[in-house]
Order: sequence, then C-alpha cells, then structure tokens
Amino acid sequence: MQDYEIAVVGGGLAGSVAAFALARGGRKVALIAPDAAPVDERTTALMDQSIRFMERLGLWDRISPSAAPLSVMQIIDGTDRLLRAPTAQFKSVDVGLQAFGYNIPNRVLLETLQSAVADEANITRLTGAVEAVAFSDEQVLLTLADGTTVSTAFVIGADGRNSKVRESAGVNTRRWSYPQSAVVLNFGHTLPHDNVSTEFHTPSGPFTQVPLPGRRSSLVWVVKPEEATHLLALSLDELSREVETRMQSMLGKASVEPGPQAWPLSSLMADRFGKGRMALVGEAAHAFPPIGAQGLNLSLRDVIALSELLSTVSDRPIPSDAGDRFNRRRRADIMSRTFGVDLLNRSLLSDFLPVQMLRAGGLHLLSSAPPLRNLVMREGVEPGRGFRAFVETLREEIRR
Ligand SMILES: Cc1cc2nc3c(=O)[nH]c(=O)nc-3n(C[C@H](O)[C@H](O)[C@H](O)COP(=O)(O)OP(=O)(O)OC[C@H]3O[C@@H](n4cnc5c(N)ncnc54)[C@H](O)[C@@H]3O)c2cc1C
Repeated sequence: MQDYEIAVVGGGLAGSVAAFALARGGRKVALIAPDAAPVDERTTALMDQSIRFMERLGLWDRISPSAAPLSVMQIIDGTDRLLRAPTAQFKSVDVGLQAFGYNIPNRVLLETLQSAVADEANITRLTGAVEAVAFSDEQVLLTLADGTTVSTAFVIGADGRNSKVRESAGVNTRRWSYPQSAVVLNFGHTLPHDNVSTEFHTPSGPFTQVPLPGRRSSLVWVVKPEEATHLLALSLDELSREVETRMQSMLGKASVEPGPQAWPLSSLMADRFGKGRMALVGEAAHAFPPIGAQGLNLSLRDVIALSELLSTVSDRPIPSDAGDRFNRRRRADIMSRTFGVDLLNRSLLSDFLPVQMLRAGGLHLLSSAPPLRNLVMREGVEPGRGFRAFVETLREEIRR
C-alpha cells in the first residue's frame, strides 16, 4: 500500500495543473492516469488571471513562445435576422492590460505540464486507471486496474466527464446536450491578425477565430452535427475556401492545416463540487460549449482555490471537511459560468423575437456604454475584478 497526502486522478490539463500546484505547495502527491493522452489539436485561450497563475508556478516562460496575445476581441452579428446586433469591440488597453489573455496550443500546455510533473520531487506518477474508490472518515482508498492500492488523505477527481471519483462519492450530475458540434481547426492566412480575435454570431452558433503566433489562427466553428460531418469530408482546399468566405476574407487567403476535428457539444454540472475528503475539478465538475473561452479558465480557478485550501503548511494534516469547504467556495463561480454560457448559446439558437431583441439590445448597450463595457471586460478576465474596479470608481467619485 502506498500512502500520500493527496491523490489526483486524471492526467489531462486540469489534473496535471492540480498535481503540480499542490506539490509546489508542499504536499506529497500521487498523480494517477493512463499513459498516453490522445492527440489534441485544440487551442485554449487562457485569460490574464490564469496566465498569472502559470507565472507563479514558474511555467509561463516555457509556454509563452508558443502563445499569441489577445489584445482585441470583436463580436460580429453574422445572422440575417430582423434584429441584428451592432459590432461590439473590446480592447484590453481600455482596462489597462497589454492582453486579455493568450491563445495556446493544448499540445504545448500538456507537454509543458507533463515535463514539469516528471521533474517535481513531490509527485509520484502512477500509470493506470482507477477502478475503485472507497471513502472513510480517516482516508480514501484507491484501487488501480493492475491491483495496486493507494491510500490518501484527500482525493481530487480530475478524471473528465465520466469521472469514477465523482460516481464513487455518490455525486450526481445534470447533463444536457445541444444540437451542435464544434469543428476545431488551425489555419494560416495571408494578412496579419494584429492580435485581434473575431467571433461571428451565426444562427447555428459562434464562429470564432483566435490568433496564434505569426500569420496563423485557430478556429472554433459551431454548426449542426450534419454540417460538421459535411465540413470534415471536404478536401483541405475546399474547407479553406469555406473558412475564408465565412471570415469575409478579413485575413486574406486561408489555408487550413491538416487535422480538423469535430466535438459534439454538451453541458454537465455536478450536483456538488466536493465533500469530505474529495474535490472535483475540470470537466469532472463542469463542462459546457466552447463559447467565450471559459472551460479551462474555470478549471484553473478550481485549482487556485484548492491550492489556497490545501497548501497551507500550518493546516496539516488535511481536515476531513476540506471537500465541503471547497464546494462552498466554488459554487457561485461554477454555477454562474455554466448557466451564463448556456444562456448565451441558447440566445444564438433561438428564433424567438424577444430573445433576439435581448441579445441585440445587450450587445448594443455594451457597444455604446464604455463603463459597462469595461466592467464586462474586467469580469471576463477575472471574476470579481470588474465589480471591484466599479466600486473603486464609485468611491473616488464620492470622495470628490
Ligand atoms: C472544442 C473545444 C474548445 C475549447 N476551448 C477552450 C478555450 O479556448 N478555453 C478554455 O478555457 N477551455 C476550452 N475548452 C475546454 C477545455 O478544453 C477543457 O476544460 C479541458 O481540456 C478539460 O480538461 P480535463 O483535464 O478536465 O479533462 P480531460 O481532458 O477529459 O482529462 C481527463 C483525464 O482523466 C483520465 N481518466 C479518465 N478516467 C480515469 C480513471 N478511471 N482513472 C484515471 N484516470 C482517468 C483521462 O485519461 C484523462 O487523462 C474547450 C473545449 C472544447 C470541446
């Protein structure tokens, strides 16, 4: 039997960051996951708060050469509906930032994390799937597929949507799906992107171009599942022409790179995010469509909260209610992001005129009211930041 303070189950992005951050916080950690992850051609836009966390972990210098800054984000209404929203543009300089965040290939993120995990003395990497998890007041017992048993004071379920840890802890989920798939690809273009990300809102869902270093961008293109099948069956030349047309040639000629993928879109939220000696992070706790670059940023906030709760050396041994504390702390953020993304996605799909009016009106308000736009931008970068800045501004006004 091997004995650890914390066992992290799952070696995707969420699990790898969690294991590394907690080991850096002084805990003795086991990271348990099967060996090879499938090739992931997606990219992830990490916002300013997530980037600062990566800096604190000493990982950012290794990642930054492969990352592109997001300095301007614009939303263009690409629907042909009666009520079309005006183009809304958000500039990071307006909220005092060089960039809202950075777009990074998932492959680079995962390789950097895997090598950092391998070099970290406080982490033992155990290869294999966890088959059974047994909870008691004093500890958690994990059994791997090869029969190895591990005892730990605390377990973190980072084992994705079909989490074994979540199921063993008796935590239920709410799941719902959308009649949509996300086609994900990278493409080269002949004109510079100038660090601008453009999101076209279309009746089937968003079509979002996000800059990569050089004259390259990534694309998340949300369409009906049958349209995704059709797009993936096209030759790269045909697909490139489709992308260029949808982009209204804003970036010149497009050349799609090999390896486009399609992901069916669905949402999931656990009924609770921790209890007793267990916490859930990443897609084991929450998953939703790729709108507004929320998923991994939310997962990193899970990990930041866990680091603050579990890394404190004065709080050894880990208390038996650490999972309940984590649940209380993360509830509001996870629920508001999950339902916010759901609402935005449904408003795009809806043909109901009042819903279209609300969406168009909302974007119109954002375009014409700079204080509100700044508040939304700050909230997008770090929850709470916008409201803190807003309260500060009010205080200054009152002092004057
Ligand atoms: C098209 C698309 C675009 C996206 N774009 C963005 C974006 O721009 N910004 C953003 O923030 N997020 C984005 N996301 C979301 C982001 O990619 C996910 O939040 C993130 O990849 C999820 O990582 P995870 O580690 O939670 O889960 P996973 O990647 O699913 O990892 C789960 C891990 O658990 C392991 N595992 C499973 N079962 C067991 C078991 N029994 N025992 C041991 N190990 C097990 C698996 O092998 C794997 O290693 C996007 C998602 C999609 C679909």
